[in-house]
Amino acid sequence: MAKDSMNDNRIIVAENAGFCFGVKRAVEMAEETAAKAPAGSSVYSMGPLIHNRTATDELERKGVTVIDSLEEAAPGSTVIVRSHGIGRAFYDDAKAAGVEVVDATCPFVEKIHKLVAGTDKRVVIAGNSEHPEVVGIAGWCKDQPVIIGTAAETAEALADNTEDLFIVSQTTLKESVFQEIIDAIRGLGEGFGIEIHNTICNATSKRQEECRKLAAECDAMVIIGDKNSSNSRKLFEIGKQHCGRTFFVENIKDLPLHEVMKCNKIGVATGASTPDSTIKEVIANMSDATLENKELTMEDLMEDIDKSLRLPRSGEIVTGKVHQVNEKEVIVNLGCKKDGILPIGEVSLEEGQTLADVFKADDEIQAKVIKTDGDDGSILLSKKKLEISANWNEIVKALEDKTDLEVKVTRTVNGGVIADYKEVSGFIPLSLLSDHYVDNAEEFVGQTMMVKVSRVDQRRNRAVFSHKMYLAEEKEKLIAEIWDKLNEGDVVEGTVMRFTDYGAFVDIGGIDGLLHISEISWGKLKHPDEVLSIGQKINVKVLSMNAEKGKISL
Ligand code: SF4
Repeated sequence: MAKDSMNDNRIIVAENAGFCFGVKRAVEMAEETAAKAPAGSSVYSMGPLIHNRTATDELERKGVTVIDSLEEAAPGSTVIVRSHGIGRAFYDDAKAAGVEVVDATCPFVEKIHKLVAGTDKRVVIAGNSEHPEVVGIAGWCKDQPVIIGTAAETAEALADNTEDLFIVSQTTLKESVFQEIIDAIRGLGEGFGIEIHNTICNATSKRQEECRKLAAECDAMVIIGDKNSSNSRKLFEIGKQHCGRTFFVENIKDLPLHEVMKCNKIGVATGASTPDSTIKEVIANMSDATLENKELTMEDLMEDIDKSLRLPRSGEIVTGKVHQVNEKEVIVNLGCKKDGILPIGEVSLEEGQTLADVFKADDEIQAKVIKTDGDDGSILLSKKKLEISANWNEIVKALEDKTDLEVKVTRTVNGGVIADYKEVSGFIPLSLLSDHYVDNAEEFVGQTMMVKVSRVDQRRNRAVFSHKMYLAEEKEKLIAEIWDKLNEGDVVEGTVMRFTDYGAFVDIGGIDGLLHISEISWGKLKHPDEVLSIGQKINVKVLSMNAEKGKISL
């Protein structure tokens, strides 16, 4: 759950610290928008982009000004919708005002918008009616929703209700509060149906669970976050429930260092909108005061934190934990400041399989980084490309070890066919497709066949396979086996293959032996075709075997 940030285990930082996926994405979109804005045009965010003053001050310096209403934005300017999202009407109003919108609504919040917009039932939102996310969700409902903050409000909010209810939650609501509200609604009787969508964000519930566990095992808890951030405040509440000495710290100035220093084991949890720089500063300050071997442990600590800020490079193979799975993508926590996105197109799925069939939250997965600045500022991952790398390694190994591969012929091309080995496509020239002359390669399409690797040029993505080499090796093996088993005097069944003036060649299970004309019949023959025909099955006795010359007399 958490990792020790120092050698003596005194400060334990929750694993999910720093910006959550939605906040990271929004901040990066805002920074990019401000950086690309033409000179003289303004960039605004509708309300503070995140609930953290340090972060919004930094954004202001980068050119993103906070406004509270659309009227404050001049035509031609750009307004960023924050991760909390906003009601549907805003988009029409912005269009009418000639303002460009950059939508940084967190995809998890957007999903709630779609849910409530698609139902005709009476919507209940479990959450704080004043929280901008809840206000935004309400703005997507067909009718006025019912907003319930606590179980105690339920009876009054739904007095005389007879309609079926469609219940969603604010993403940052405490799980226990949501459950209490559901229980209270169920307790109202059976006069209406209820459809429940627990839309509490995994990032939030994970942080809360980690905070609870840490608080239970530590002597002091430090919650780093802005006092206006609802998820930070909730962490503070959870911390207090399980640990008497829980401190809510907005920045280094709030840290009650003397109090914290009295404790042996200090847990650190952070809100989803707390910048890395603030976390780093607070932890470094505590470490500085607590450690005997300051220099060494500070270095270790900084390295640990820096590691979480480093971004992987394109082409790097990374390991991460599945954070969320939806229809189109898997969001992967890579332990750095950006999350990874694994789109459905970058995963090899069998027919009918969905991403949820293959990935579950908390699974550890490996993938290859294909882009470090995806359209939404995320790190784009690919499982397919990882498989391709692994497949190339297998092909190169098969070439070196002269082992066989199974391929599937997918189509004909000029001079041969294309055959796939897993995710890699290779070429089989007509001359290497069979041990006999191939006139029409079409008949091989769709066939699965064994091949040898004839050549590999991975730099140019080229592999040449040979079915002929495979067949030749198989034949050699067969012949060796027959020679091994066969003895002079054995009687075996054979097939007449071809004639000469002096006899017939008979295939005895993979090798041809010569049945001399004098050995075909007791009577005198002018030609073997007087008594034999091509393809005829006959029993023959092995008269002699010459392994050196590879000749068998029958
Ligand atoms: S807490 Fe969850 S829903 Fe909210 S912005 Fe972060 S990732 Fe999105």
